[in-house]
Amino acid sequence: MIPMVNLKAQYAEIKEEVERGLAQTIENCSFILGPNVQAFEQETAKYLGVKHAIGVASGTDALHLALIAEGIGTGDEVITTAFTFIATAEAIKYVGAIPVFVDIDPKTFNISPAAIEKAITPKTKAIMPVHLFGQPADMTPIEHLCKKYDLKLIEDCCQSFGATINGKQTGAIGHAAGYSFFPSKNLGAFGDGGLVVTNSDESAAKIKQLRNHGSDIRYYHDIIGYNSRLDEMQAVILLAKLKRIDQYNKARRQVAHYYSTLMADLPLTTPFEDGLGEHVYHQYTLLSDRRDDILKALQNAEIGCAVYYPVPLHQQNVFKQECTGLRLPVTESVAANCVSLPICPFLEEQTIEKIVDVIKGVLTN
Ligand SMILES: *Cc1c(COP(=O)(O)O)cnc(C)c1O
Repeated sequence: MIPMVNLKAQYAEIKEEVERGLAQTIENCSFILGPNVQAFEQETAKYLGVKHAIGVASGTDALHLALIAEGIGTGDEVITTAFTFIATAEAIKYVGAIPVFVDIDPKTFNISPAAIEKAITPKTKAIMPVHLFGQPADMTPIEHLCKKYDLKLIEDCCQSFGATINGKQTGAIGHAAGYSFFPSKNLGAFGDGGLVVTNSDESAAKIKQLRNHGSDIRYYHDIIGYNSRLDEMQAVILLAKLKRIDQYNKARRQVAHYYSTLMADLPLTTPFEDGLGEHVYHQYTLLSDRRDDILKALQNAEIGCAVYYPVPLHQQNVFKQECTGLRLPVTESVAANCVSLPICPFLEEQTIEKIVDVIKGVLTN
């Protein structure tokens, strides 16, 4: 059995450090907003090149709190992609805003800047690009649109920890950004966790209040907030993995490039790197008109595989009605033909070869 992500191999490498940190946290009985969260926030802010990093309970919460802090609310339109995980749009709905889904680039699967500009109305308040599968979205024209139309830029970096573009980390470009530490993400915790980053002192102060019941001083509450804190145990794990994140992302790129080399002559489309930034391969995603045959063969061979995403957001039951009549041809075609293969920093060459052999078997029959 070959899993999508080999978390066990990763754990073996950090086991001692993690066990020591966890034991110390239990010993100290400091579980919420303690020294590890503080250290992790400082380290990530430094790594990402941003002024503030605030640990929260999940990537979904990170996006939600970022939208509130940036003043997005009832009736505002937020332009985003329909080819993403549901949480991107959920966060927009939580603040009472309207997700406006536009089409993607057929090669990178990231939001199309040209499609964004066509969708801007007087109600548009923000653009929320997703750096999908770890490849930075085309940020230069998106930043330009935000300046031209005075819009907030909120990045969904849940799949792009460590990816760079124009000499910056993703997340360091917009007004605010959200990261997820769901276990299978490039930087994954042993449970849920998330991070909001921003260069604005005002937004950072607001997010710190929001994550902790609207409070700066215990039992004094200025606004209605939430209980959304990154916990100390997760921070211990994340600190250990943060030290190694560049090495992990480099290994992911090597795995991806080996896959692409082995499949160069097959009748399918391997991931396209647009060269604008550095792709960190949260997913390795192919396009094939024989997608379902490939899935079946991989499943039969006990090889992990998945379709990210089978149903674009505008066609999900929850959005079907408000998106009546909306057609996103590129998004719909990619969703019908995409398949993601196992990828993680610990995938060995012979395993990659075995996976490719199964796909070859399908396409040469
Ligand atoms: C994982 C993910 C999220 C949500 O993160 P959680 O930590 O699971 O809440 C949001 N957006 C994208 C693109 C994601 O991949």
